[in-house]
Amino acid sequence: MSIATVNPATGITEAEFTPHDAAETERRIAEADAAARALRLTDFATRGAWMRAAADILESELDEVARMLTVEMGKPIAQSRGEVQKCAKNMRFYAERAEEFLADEPLGDPGSVGASSAWTRYEPLGVVLAVMPWNYPLWQVIRFAAPALMAGNTGVLKHASNVPQAANYLDTLFERGGFPLGSFRTLLIGSAAVADVIADRRVKAVTLTGSEPAGRSVASIAGSHIKKAVLELGGSDPFIVLASADVAKAAETAVTARVNNNGQSCIAGKRFIVHADVYDEFVSAFSERMAALVVGDPLDEATQVGPLATSAGLNELAGLVDDAVTKGATARVGGSAVGGQGWYYRPTVLEGVTPSMRLYAEEAFGPVATVYRVADADEAVALANSTTFGLSSSIWTNDQAEEQRVTAALDAGAVFVNGMTVSYPELPFGGIKDSGYGRELAAAGIREFCNLKTVWKA
Ligand code: NDP
Repeated sequence: MSIATVNPATGITEAEFTPHDAAETERRIAEADAAARALRLTDFATRGAWMRAAADILESELDEVARMLTVEMGKPIAQSRGEVQKCAKNMRFYAERAEEFLADEPLGDPGSVGASSAWTRYEPLGVVLAVMPWNYPLWQVIRFAAPALMAGNTGVLKHASNVPQAANYLDTLFERGGFPLGSFRTLLIGSAAVADVIADRRVKAVTLTGSEPAGRSVASIAGSHIKKAVLELGGSDPFIVLASADVAKAAETAVTARVNNNGQSCIAGKRFIVHADVYDEFVSAFSERMAALVVGDPLDEATQVGPLATSAGLNELAGLVDDAVTKGATARVGGSAVGGQGWYYRPTVLEGVTPSMRLYAEEAFGPVATVYRVADADEAVALANSTTFGLSSSIWTNDQAEEQRVTAALDAGAVFVNGMTVSYPELPFGGIKDSGYGRELAAAGIREFCNLKTVWKA
């Protein structure tokens, strides 16, 4: 796969990049390793000032960076600006809170272990490799990098091959804020070169956001070298609407939950599981809104759904829908690619999806919703849990007892009640089952790549 920007709205190659050879990759890892030794000696206030400065630079370049994201992967321009702002917010969040999250934790009763005092401290691990996807080319990276650098680690980034301009922008952002050279370095390499980077003795751990096959491969290699891995893989999140729900609100939110980022989000609501009592009301309101979405040029401010990021992604999505329709599902809305220039797929609502269809079990990475009718909350939970994924979930109910029961019963890394799943710097983020392991964001995220060192004193 070449490393290039191919505009998804036109299919035109806008820029191509020469991959780093082994010598350049080595040089960059060496820089990250040297920077890790320097960075661990700096204090939180210094790192926080650099992080805030980098956030200021990012925000001052908002329009130009947003345009770059849209041209590289097709996100509607307003959403690209939102992504840039969210990154700056996350950088400031960790600049502010890292010291508190990583404060020493004294044992209240040191006598119980025969000590005069005992405590734990969080220390950085060193160089961490980040293997990142194209769907949120800045956010996915900053979600890792802001806490990692505030903890005193350094990062090397292997970004997706279709977002090299975002990768190169990130290569210098932290240094421009004041971090020592090498604190964060992009490696312009293909996925075949990742195994050697993980094996490198100077690389201490790896984090990957992306598909399940990529996660399996990277985690296996990390495991064979006894290196820590955090995996944030795909999801097929349930969006459950129960009988007592505010159906109009749920239907309105369901559209955003499904088509945000052109439907290419790991935490998108993908399976809409609806109580029979409100099924017709929900599906008509939802379908009407899905059919009314403005699909078009992502640089146009009025566009709500742009093209899919790659032609392979478009073919994959079309294949999933065709398989379902061939086996008896019906498209209430959409059901086909737009055709012509660019990799556009129509917002789609499918009914009648059964376990014999690929769509039942696989992740639909695009604006395709499946809706299911269930008789009660128990059936909703059973259906929601019947996939290999377990990232997040959303439930809509105004019955408190039901809310508590369903919240406890869902196999997921998060439950959002009467709202859609959103990632916030303040809340831990991650999944279970084949959606991965480990957590990003909040205190849990910054602690993932730290050595929790125990100190015992006689
Ligand atoms: P991938 O998982 O293939 O790509 C994500 C990152 O992993 C990229 O940097 C990619 O590099 C790298 N990568 C891929 N395979 C390997 C490997 N064997 N070893 C090391 N690195 C690897 O995602 P795709 O773009 O192919 O998307 C396919 C599907 O993955 C989507 O349809 C969706 O289901 C899921 N996905 C989920 C995301 C999420 O947010 N959880 C994000 C993106 C995709 P390169 O680009 O060079 O191949």
